[in-house]
This record gives sequence, C-alpha cells and structure tokens, in this order.
Amino acid sequence: MDRQAIKLSGKKLAAKTQADVAVGVAARGKNGLSQPALATILIGEDPASQVYVRSKHKACEKVGIRSVGYEMASDVNQEQVLELVHNLNAESDLHGILVQLPMPKHIDEAAVLTAISLEKDVDALHPHNVGLLAQKGRQPLFTSATPSGIMRLLDDANIKLEGARVFVLGRSNIVGLPLALMMIKADATVTICHSRSKDLPDLCRQADVLVAAVGKPELVRVDWVKPGAVVIDVGVNRVEDKTSKKGYRLVGDVAYDEVRQVAKAITPVPGGVGPMTIAILMENTLHAAELADQ
Ligand code: NAP
Repeated sequence: MDRQAIKLSGKKLAAKTQADVAVGVAARGKNGLSQPALATILIGEDPASQVYVRSKHKACEKVGIRSVGYEMASDVNQEQVLELVHNLNAESDLHGILVQLPMPKHIDEAAVLTAISLEKDVDALHPHNVGLLAQKGRQPLFTSATPSGIMRLLDDANIKLEGARVFVLGRSNIVGLPLALMMIKADATVTICHSRSKDLPDLCRQADVLVAAVGKPELVRVDWVKPGAVVIDVGVNRVEDKTSKKGYRLVGDVAYDEVRQVAKAITPVPGGVGPMTIAILMENTLHAAELADQ
C-alpha cells in the first residue's frame, strides 16, 4: 500500500506567521511605539548553536525586529553571564532576552534562566512562566517557541486534540515537558516517554498523535506508528553524508520515508517544526514589546 501522509509544512505557516509579525511591528512604528528588540546570548562556539542564533537574527531582520547578539567565550564565568543578563534586563529599549542552549556545563543554567526578567522571557524558560503553564486556568506571559509552534501546526492542519491519545517522546524543559502541558490544556490524554521508558514501540503504537523530541536519528520506525496517526518530528540530527558539501545532512527522530507510508500526517525535517520555532520567537518578541508599553 502506498498511502502517503500529508506533509505538515512548517515553512508555509511560519512565513505567514512572520508576515503577521512584520505587520504588527510596522504598525507600532506608525503609532510612534518603540521598535521591538531581541537580545541573544551565545556562550561558546558550538557550531549548531551558532547556526540557530544566526537564523534568529536573520528572522528578526526580516520582520523589522532589532536584534543584538552577545557572544561570550566558553570559559566565561557564572557572574559574568548573570551580570550581562541583569544589564539587559535594565535596558528599556530591549524587550526580549534569549540565552541559546545548551550552556557550557560549568554555568548554572537554572540560575541564568531565572535571572531573566519575566517580561523579557521570550523563550519561556523562566520557572515562573513554566509554573503558570502547568497550572489549570492560568497562562504564562510567554509560551516556549518549539512546543507553541507544534500546537500551531496541528491547529492549522485542523487536527483535533480533544480526547486524542498523545505520546510525547522526550521530557526536556525546552520541548517535551512544556509540550505535554500544552497538550493537556488542549484536552488530550498525554503520555510522556523518556530514556527509561520500557517497550517504547508498543507504547508509541497507541498514539493518535506521536511527537518525537529525543535527538536520536530515525529512532521511530514504521512499526512504532499506528496507521492513520499524526507524527510530529522535532529532532534535528546531523548524520555523516560524504555526498553532501557540508559532509553531513540533517535527519529527524523519525524514519520519514517509512513512516509517511502509514501516518495520516507528518512533519518533515528540515522544514517542519524548525521554522515554526523561529516564527513563534518573533511573535513572542513583539508581544514583549507590547507588554513593555503597558
Ligand atoms: P534533550 O534535552 O537532550 O532531551 C532529550 C529527551 O529524549 C530526554 O527527555 C531523554 O530522556 C529522551 N531520550 C533520549 N534517548 C531516548 C530514547 N532512546 N528513547 C526515548 N527517549 C529518549 O533534547 P531536546 O532539547 O528536547 O531536543 C530534542 C531534539 O529536538 C534534538 O534533536 C534537538 O536538536 C531538537 N530540537 C529541535 C528544535 C526545533 O526547533 N526543531 C528545537 C529544540 C530541539 P531522559 O530525560 O531520560 O534523559
């Protein structure tokens, strides 16, 4: 049977989302309001992080958001990072602060993320914002970009979550955990799986919506997926490819070519969740500027 899944393109929806942000930014200018501004902090020289930060700045430029990049050497100390965050908190014409993860091991990630002012927490990793996301009937000031982008993709494709059995592979602070909380708020029945989960293929086969946010190339195979399931692939993994100029190619956590034969819908890698992450960050930065007006 060759019954290929609908491809859930994040590129198209991200372009629309960014166009809407650009309209919002331009309207602020016309109304004499400040230009939204994002500060990024990159610690160390991790090539993937450098690529991610560059693409965030590029997106800012596209939508009219001012962006300022701070780069710190990998041997920077905790106090220096905290001092920079405190200084950026105090700058009234900077609205969002994003510290690119992962940070070097000697930096206390929780302390840095907690130091970001709540109103500038555009990556939504401050424990207060996460706590509000976890509580029934409450909403954080910002929601984390990758999970919000996934929720937006599902909504755009008219995929109903109410009562759906959702399995999220991965429980990280940045993807798995906040996504599971959002799915619960959307009335799904949610199971979170992780590296200690047993019988993963059996569990995954129960999913109406299966989200893989693990960081293991093509972990999810066709026999893990119930026919007709929706599959969201968050993973971005570099695998060696001597035929490519870069020497590598990007693959997700899902064996795309196999799984699309049985799934109802699936996100590609690249071009699925990734572009949505950046688009939501742009939205969050515009929102931060609006909060600063109040
Ligand atoms: P992470 O912090 O390393 O978390 C990985 C999670 O997967 C952990 O909860 C871990 O379990 C679980 N895990 C690891 N191996 C597993 C296995 N064999 N079976 C089941 N679960 C397993 O990673 P992350 O930051 O969440 O990122 C996950 C992936 O998404 C990465 O490829 C990353 O590059 C990608 N990503 C993409 C975007 C985007 O915009 N497209 C954004 C963020 C991340 P334990 O908790 O037990 O260790």
